[in-house]
Amino acid sequence: QDDKFKKVISHAKEYGYVFQSSEIYDGLSAVYDYAQNGVELKKNIREYWWKAMVQMNENIVGLDAAIFMHPTTWKASGHVDAFNDPLIDNKDSKKRYRADVLIEDYVGKLDAKIEKEVAKAAKRFGEAFDKAEFLATNARVVGYKEKGEAILQRMGQSLEKEDLADVKLLIEELGIGCPVSGSKNWTDVKQFNLMFGTKLGASADTAMDLYLRPETAQGIFVNFSNVQKTGRMKIPFGIAQTGKAFRNEIVARQFIFRMREFEQMEMQFFVRPGTQKEWYEQWKETRLKWHLSLGMGENNYRFHDHDKLAHYADAAADIEFRFPFGFKELEGIHSRTDFDLKAHEEHSGKKIQYFDPEINERYVPYVVETSIGLDRMFLAVFSNSLQEEELENGTSRTVLKLPAVLAPTKAAILPLVKKDGLPEIAKKIVEDLKWDFNVAYDEKDAVGRRYRRQDANGTPFCITVDHDTLTDDAVTIRHRDTMEQQRVKISDLKEIIKQEVDI
Ligand code: ATP
Repeated sequence: QDDKFKKVISHAKEYGYVFQSSEIYDGLSAVYDYAQNGVELKKNIREYWWKAMVQMNENIVGLDAAIFMHPTTWKASGHVDAFNDPLIDNKDSKKRYRADVLIEDYVGKLDAKIEKEVAKAAKRFGEAFDKAEFLATNARVVGYKEKGEAILQRMGQSLEKEDLADVKLLIEELGIGCPVSGSKNWTDVKQFNLMFGTKLGASADTAMDLYLRPETAQGIFVNFSNVQKTGRMKIPFGIAQTGKAFRNEIVARQFIFRMREFEQMEMQFFVRPGTQKEWYEQWKETRLKWHLSLGMGENNYRFHDHDKLAHYADAAADIEFRFPFGFKELEGIHSRTDFDLKAHEEHSGKKIQYFDPEINERYVPYVVETSIGLDRMFLAVFSNSLQEEELENGTSRTVLKLPAVLAPTKAAILPLVKKDGLPEIAKKIVEDLKWDFNVAYDEKDAVGRRYRRQDANGTPFCITVDHDTLTDDAVTIRHRDTMEQQRVKISDLKEIIKQEVDI
């Protein structure tokens, strides 16, 4: 699995998808640049989302709010006080950890260990085996697990001072997460705010402290009334937005899975209070369908319903995806109640309400949101598509089976040889097709090698111009996934490609 992930990262670099930011200066940790192909794939994912959310829904409109927002926004949203991760340093290894991640990992390991021991003992003692008795004699291990679980539960809310001390004790007692095994040399656990600060304005005394937004959602909440009134929106309705968000993540070592600068695609759906549970269920279903429509395998997705809820939510679930390092959150669906709009009412002193003509009542709407990381979706698509295939003739090929609708280049046009007028015909095809799709022209190397290159690049079609083309006005179209080839008229190409790559 580690191997697979390494391949994904090196393929992303080799084929111009993702580069480390500022690589010539040895890079910047957890910051990445999208290269010539990556930028296309990313744009296509964004468009696929936008089309499904905004274009296809009459009652959802778009927005592009600024990254800078008035600092009170983040007071109201709770980010100034509660957007923290608990961190702990090990003094021996000089490494910094997220305390909750350490404990979560360890609780998982303990759980597996206990289960294994129980199964072993049950086998040994047969019918006489008493699970309760066994667990009682292993009370120390079970106790650690329970303690860890209790702390993790509380971490859903914000941790109090006493909790932080508990977390430290537990980590010390277990000697976890440190190469110096059993090391007790830990600092206290500190709450670390994930927002990046910056300043607006030039003069030292009037400059205003600002934050780079850690989520796009607040831009939608503060614009609720403006959009509702100018768009004459009737509840239920949604506002969708894509854009950059910034978090000073402590543990950021998973390529583009967890970045310090990333892009979100969020939609906030405003509903009548009391109807939020129905809408929450509906959006869970709708979003899963969106994912499945890409054909990346039903077994690669699952829901994870949260029992520990953030301070603003009355229900929350993740759509998890099977990444190369296991099932992890890809998208969150949250029922956020009226927490945000009410908080902005309080802090701004302005009413943020809706008059519902159907029931003749004025209220602060409830919100159900869907929130997905564009970069994380990119990683899901890219890692799932990268495959190593054994072929019948004993050779193998690397193929990037991107959903055709998302592929950066839809077709590569290849003259069989660099003479006899074939390049001219191939270039003419490029000229025709480029109005509708991203296409590439490639005349270098033997055609077999060019096919392999396009396979690894994720191009769904290769179109080869050969000597017969001179007389039959037809070309060979090769399908990336099946490697099947078909002879088709040049005039039919556009339609054939369209059928596969149109959203
Ligand atoms: P996690 O638990 O993985 O830190 P989260 O629960 O804090 O994520 P949300 O605040 O719900 O995430 O953000 C919504 C979505 O934004 C996530 O599902 C994820 O796809 C994406 N996202 C969040 N943080 C990052 C990050 N640091 N890098 C890339 N994508 C991110």
